[in-house]
Amino acid sequence: MTKRVVVVGGGIAGLAAAHRLHTLRPGLDVVLLDQRDRPGGKLSTGELAGGPVERGAESFLVGAPEGGSSAALRLAEAVGVTVVHPTPARAAVAIDGSLRDLPAGTLMGIPVQAPDSVLDEPATAPLLAPGADVTVGGLVRPRRGDAVVDHFVEPLLGGVYAGRADRLSLRMALPALAAAAERAHTLTEALQAAVAASRRTPGAPVFGTVEGGMSRLVDAVAAALPDVRCGVTVRALRRSGGGWQLTLGSTRDAEVLDADGVVLAVPARPAERLLAAVDGVSSVPLDYASVALVALALPATKLPELSGFLVPATEGLAVKAVTFFDQKWAHLRRPGVTVLRASVGRHGDEGQLQRTDDALAEVVRAEVARLIGVDALPAELGRGVFRWGGALPQYTPNHQDRVRALRAGLAAHPAIAVAGAAYDGVGIPACVASGWRAAEAVLERLAE
Ligand SMILES: Cc1cc2nc3c(=O)[nH]c(=O)nc-3n(C[C@H](O)[C@H](O)[C@H](O)COP(=O)(O)OP(=O)(O)OC[C@H]3O[C@@H](n4cnc5c(N)ncnc54)[C@H](O)[C@@H]3O)c2cc1C
Repeated sequence: MTKRVVVVGGGIAGLAAAHRLHTLRPGLDVVLLDQRDRPGGKLSTGELAGGPVERGAESFLVGAPEGGSSAALRLAEAVGVTVVHPTPARAAVAIDGSLRDLPAGTLMGIPVQAPDSVLDEPATAPLLAPGADVTVGGLVRPRRGDAVVDHFVEPLLGGVYAGRADRLSLRMALPALAAAAERAHTLTEALQAAVAASRRTPGAPVFGTVEGGMSRLVDAVAAALPDVRCGVTVRALRRSGGGWQLTLGSTRDAEVLDADGVVLAVPARPAERLLAAVDGVSSVPLDYASVALVALALPATKLPELSGFLVPATEGLAVKAVTFFDQKWAHLRRPGVTVLRASVGRHGDEGQLQRTDDALAEVVRAEVARLIGVDALPAELGRGVFRWGGALPQYTPNHQDRVRALRAGLAAHPAIAVAGAAYDGVGIPACVASGWRAAEAVLERLAE
């Protein structure tokens, strides 16, 4: 009899899992379910002033830390979408109200060389015990000083996690540095080792995006799948015989679906709810940051020659980062239109997001104008405010231990695996790789 695997969650991790299951076992009945009206999760391209605009994720790393192409690039190539790369325009950082170059020779904003050797005196033992974890701030503040963390490290981390250096896990945010810190006695030594361990080809592009928008990647993966059902919420999961039974839809109109294997590719809270009835499975408590993106389509406007800029929390502004789309991405240039997108919202400071869409856009307009040194931005041709409530996981130290414990608990049950940003990293390549690993784990269990 044909076996069925149900993938719950059609974000990029669930899509990648379903794609892997279908590619490796074309005869398998693979069903992908998502509660929203379209798959993609945080990948969603909209339209602004007649052109595409990303409502969520904008780009992905094209290289893998271990060398070769990232999982995201490999998935894009497998489904035949065109990947394009950013221009060489640089990003800046706002310090004391003006835009400055991001320093060169850093790892996530941490200067490889200590500005003051006293700060980085050799410790008697390696900086990190094997398998231990600390916050990024905990490692860097005493060895590089507060200004480095507040002005450079935190805004760069903030661009990825909307999170704070003093809360985020070093192992999750900077895994190569954590590994190097297990052997090094100074941060300089650890940074040098982490940089040397990178197998990325020097000079090769670091980021890529999908021509036409990230939704093209979503659509191409979904089109390659046999059974994608949107608008379907999975409400419950329980063991049934040698497999699983999922309860779908509203409580009044519930439907059940039996499966031999399950991949759960949903955020931590829905995953925890669905796993509540599964014996011996621990949860992965995880806080999420909320963000809003404000995209403004201006009549052709001269902006500083940058790809955009970051704004440290110490500036006391609502805006966290700004991308000048047409300067960062040549393929997005259009005559007569200049598009910029600002990101608002930091973990623990969600008050900024309480404003209405119009009020948020006005704050963005005023702050961007001030930072680029003009009185006001011209009236826009179009604006879009895209809100992502509880979207970015805030991994605290020892997150990986909690994930390992969850997976060990799941191993006692019929084929089931978890995937996605809740577990294995926030970036799109990490989510794709996580989906692939979940698919392979489920296939392995089904073969037993
Ligand atoms: C604003 C923003 C910008 C970002 N920018 C970038 C970027 O430029 N580059 C980058 O690499 N990363 C970026 N990220 C991070 C990255 O996009 C996400 O971490 C990644 O897309 C998460 O994928 P996922 O599949 O794990 O989860 P999600 O995308 O959250 O997908 C989970 C899916 O599960 C569904 N679901 C939940 N519960 C149920 C249920 N009970 N039943 C059925 N379906 C359910 C949801 O509808 C959703 O579609 C960004 C994130 C945000 C929020």
